[in-house]
Amino acid sequence: MRKLYALLFVALLASNGLVAQRTCGTMEHLHSQMQSNPEIAKSLQKQESEIQRYVRENGENFRSPSGTITIPVVVHVVYRSAGQNISDTQVQSQIAVLNEDFSGTNTDVSSVPGAWTSLVANTGIQFCLATRDPQGLPTTGIVRVSTTVNSFSMNGDPVKYTSQGGSDAWPRDSYLNLWVCNLGNQLLGYAQFPGQTAATDGVVVLYNAFGRTGNVSAPYNKGRTCTHEVGHWLNLRHIWGDDGGACNGSDQVADTPNQANANYNCLSFPATDACSGASPGDMFMNYMDYTPDACMYFFTNGQSTRMNSVLTGTRSALANSQG
Ligand code: ZN
Ligand code: CA
Repeated sequence: MRKLYALLFVALLASNGLVAQRTCGTMEHLHSQMQSNPEIAKSLQKQESEIQRYVRENGENFRSPSGTITIPVVVHVVYRSAGQNISDTQVQSQIAVLNEDFSGTNTDVSSVPGAWTSLVANTGIQFCLATRDPQGLPTTGIVRVSTTVNSFSMNGDPVKYTSQGGSDAWPRDSYLNLWVCNLGNQLLGYAQFPGQTAATDGVVVLYNAFGRTGNVSAPYNKGRTCTHEVGHWLNLRHIWGDDGGACNGSDQVADTPNQANANYNCLSFPATDACSGASPGDMFMNYMDYTPDACMYFFTNGQSTRMNSVLTGTRSALANSQG
């Protein structure tokens, strides 16, 4: 009977777009793409050596030479129900969150423990809704597509294809593509790392985990799912190194502590684990952990350097976007 209740509970969560704990599909998405295309592993390796060279040449606390880059964004709202057809205001609230989080001007940045305040990054990366579409015509930067798809799978990326009930990507050299939809399998979101298939380049986020006003559902109601996924889109890894709880995996960033596994709850500082046994311990308030929205509030300078290196490398075309 208890098992039945548990199953019913899970079914209820799934049908209402509620997610019990943070779930990001980015690594699973990467692995399935790598299986179908062996070139992706090579591309990632090449980018990794470019990034490491960039870090050596510029140091760990470096921003793009121009100081700030503003990336035009297109938001594809793919909806089956009225609730999934989120408002312009909700979309705009997500852009505002990205701009705060990527510049370290979010109000909760004041909660960063003293041990790490010197690491808080202003990445110099900003975002705006596109004002010109790929044809050069005026746009709101929001594309609304009605669909008959009840829930989108990550498998095959149907939400990124008009022919599969989704919405085709805009050119990635000029835009960051964000898709907002009812994602299945209890996923909050997933991203595609740089240097892969153009048609599927971008970030997908569950409709009620997107933005911080309107149809949003606690504890993923502060727009941090998208902050985390855009981090992946700029080649950031999970802070625990995706090594199944071991201490050998790395996020390839020097100023983040080694961490065993994902943290799913709001913790009290310091929280230590098998890889960082003494204070300050895990950086569980970093955007690339799995903690609830209210408990993650910064990128480090090392992560900022890594993201900026992508914007001078694989994603350098964005700097000349007419979007
Ligand atoms: Zn992730
Ligand atoms: Ca680890």
